[in-house]
Amino acid sequence: MEKRIYNFSAGPAVLPEEVLKEAQENLFTLPGVGMSILEISHRSKTFDKIIGDARDDLRTLLDISQDYEILFLQGGASLQFSMVPLNIMPPVNKADYIVTGSWSKKAVKEAKRVGEVNIAATAEDTKFNRIPKQAELKLTADAAYAHFTSNNTIYGTEWQTEPVVGSVPLVCDASSDILHKKIDINKYALVYAGAQKNMGPAGVTLVIIRKDMLERSSDTLHTMLNYKTHVENGSMYNTPTTFGIYIINLVAKWLKKNGGLDAMYKLNKEKAEILYKCIDDSDGYYKGHAEKDSRSLMNVTFNLQSAELEQKLIAEATAAGFSGLKGHRSVGGLRASIYNAFPKKGVEDLVDFMKTFQTNNG
Ligand code: PMP
Repeated sequence: MEKRIYNFSAGPAVLPEEVLKEAQENLFTLPGVGMSILEISHRSKTFDKIIGDARDDLRTLLDISQDYEILFLQGGASLQFSMVPLNIMPPVNKADYIVTGSWSKKAVKEAKRVGEVNIAATAEDTKFNRIPKQAELKLTADAAYAHFTSNNTIYGTEWQTEPVVGSVPLVCDASSDILHKKIDINKYALVYAGAQKNMGPAGVTLVIIRKDMLERSSDTLHTMLNYKTHVENGSMYNTPTTFGIYIINLVAKWLKKNGGLDAMYKLNKEKAEILYKCIDDSDGYYKGHAEKDSRSLMNVTFNLQSAELEQKLIAEATAAGFSGLKGHRSVGGLRASIYNAFPKKGVEDLVDFMKTFQTNNG
């Protein structure tokens, strides 16, 4: 088999090797089924068990109570930018949004089509290099909900704890840090996340929704855009992303086997610290984009002195087997995405590479 390289891509992103191997082994025939996961009916008993196990394992990992429904939808996190306001902004028709990056801005754009949006805080003036402080938030007491993005994939910032919004329902886009640590789901009314960073392949979107929120969804909504449709049909109103859900099931099992989210968080902290330490110890050769107290454990963003040097590093790193380090096209620089499945050894090897590069190009 061809050697695997280090994949620092922001998403779709690295998956656990064990998961890939199991999927590969069983791709031709699922044990005892005689057919591939790519071929079986979503109405079959086999798939029923797969989707049920995926749901149950996520419930266990994130300690999600029976007050919440767990959905596997399609259309990416981007469709949730619309589904959230369409379903839960009425009848109040105003909501608070905390803007910490491009994805929050896209969420705001869709919410504005439904009702009034109050920007409770924005970090745009400092190129989204920080998470607003609690005291900065200008929240609306009677908002339908307050929305935030827990990890800003492009800028490499992350909320260390969720914003406090009182009795207003809290909604979170957790696409790029879901399952990287335990969160207290009871603080949230709705969490959504595309699978393609920490959970599985592209094509599935996880939605965790508190049951009382479903009362807000109007029957006049288009069927596929109504959360109630998906709850009532167990995420199978239409053909779900069977393969994606199968992989989520394997990833959830892998997480459970490896000590759950507390163990994962410990490892994620260790990995990020290694890389941030290299940046901080480089005498300004590498400049971290995010303010220290806003740093993401998932996406480490940094710059060099010039775009030329950055390009040189990316070219040499790519040749040495470190893939996906180029920053998002909107901000440039470098970004190392080190999600749950990214190996610690890969971070250590990158740091060795960066130190050598600095010596040779200092
Ligand atoms: N939110 C965040 C935080 C993201 O990182 C992304 C994708 N990178 C999205 C939303 C959009 O996700 P999708 O492509 O699944 O629509």
